[in-house]
Amino acid sequence: MIQYLRHNIRIYPDRDQSNSLMQAIGMARLSYNFAVDKWRSTPSGTSKPSPLNIDRIFNQTKREIYPWLNDSKSVCFGKITQYSIKTNFKAALDNCYKRKLGAPTFKRKSQSDTASCDNQAFYIVGKKLKFAGVSTLIRTAEELRFSESKLISCTVGRNGKRWYASINVETKVNENQSHSKPDTFVGVDLGLKTAIQLSDDTQLLLPASALAKKAKRLVRYQRSFARKLLSSRGEKTRSNRCKKIQEKIQHLHNDIANIRHDFWHKSTTLISRDFETICVENLNIRGMQNLKTLRSKLQSTAIGKFLPMMRWKCVKNGSKLVIADRYFPSSKTCNNCGTINRNLKLGVSSWICECGSTNDRDLNAAKNLEDLARSSTRISTNVELPMVCGEVKTLERNIESRYEEVSVKVKTGKKLPVLT
Ligand SMILES: [Zn+2]
Repeated sequence: MIQYLRHNIRIYPDRDQSNSLMQAIGMARLSYNFAVDKWRSTPSGTSKPSPLNIDRIFNQTKREIYPWLNDSKSVCFGKITQYSIKTNFKAALDNCYKRKLGAPTFKRKSQSDTASCDNQAFYIVGKKLKFAGVSTLIRTAEELRFSESKLISCTVGRNGKRWYASINVETKVNENQSHSKPDTFVGVDLGLKTAIQLSDDTQLLLPASALAKKAKRLVRYQRSFARKLLSSRGEKTRSNRCKKIQEKIQHLHNDIANIRHDFWHKSTTLISRDFETICVENLNIRGMQNLKTLRSKLQSTAIGKFLPMMRWKCVKNGSKLVIADRYFPSSKTCNNCGTINRNLKLGVSSWICECGSTNDRDLNAAKNLEDLARSSTRISTNVELPMVCGEVKTLERNIESRYEEVSVKVKTGKKLPVLT
């Protein structure tokens, strides 16, 4: 079985290299917008040009339309413009026609711009990256983790002044992997208070103190930014000090996201390596976001990261993933007698059943999910099973299947706070 993984690595380009990378990003945006323009300007009723045709037209006419492209350096970005039209624009068309997500729109210049190229235009050796359009080797924070796998593509982008390279690779999944607790079942209940509750009574909590520390600093910076934004005359101006503090805010947001990301990565790895069959609930995150009381908490925990991560990690570590139906009453069912408590409210953390047992909301839900995992493997094949990873479309080679293996260096929260 083949799996597509992505490794995000921090890179340290020098001034010349960052200028070249900025040019590469500009070229990617220019060619993409050219494609969108060509596609949109074709009158309705006539057949729209394919990405392949648009790429050919772009290469034939680019020097006339954009005379500044006549310098020798723009030739180096050929692979980037090609990728931008043939892969990225094609993906946008697929989103439009197949997934009904709306027509492709123009890209604006922003901080989150990226440039990508295929494996013919980049390579990575040790801690050095060669990228299309940059004549010298760029220093990276670490070596590529999947060194024996096939390189597919590379995307560079930045967050404030921090640059990242995201490398897609094709790897073979080792299907004969053993778990530290073989033949075991576990139910996983996700919550806003206790991030992860396992049915064996293990709790995994977000590093609250590290997050609170960063959040406190963020409030201070934002206040300072607001003060500096207003000049003595009361007009809004952006001084150099103001820009500096804005950059600090951006990096702090990035740090906070990294701490959360690190937590979800470590906990999903821990669960998928330990247990053979894992049962999780399919939360309606989008629906929950509509509730005012839950929205900010959902954003601060980033709970939506769990299931996509769990899916590909189960494939990688050879575990079975059972996803419970969205309406499976995991919290409301008493694990002792099976009675469903229909009146259970959202804020209630524990409840007493008719049978006399006191149920902790999260632990009870996790135990019910574990029971579901056990029963789902015994059900005959003509009963519709919950989705089991490995059979769903996650292994197709498309945008959705680009999994993520992110390496972030986080000073705090290296050890997961496990309370048993
Ligand atoms: Zn009961």
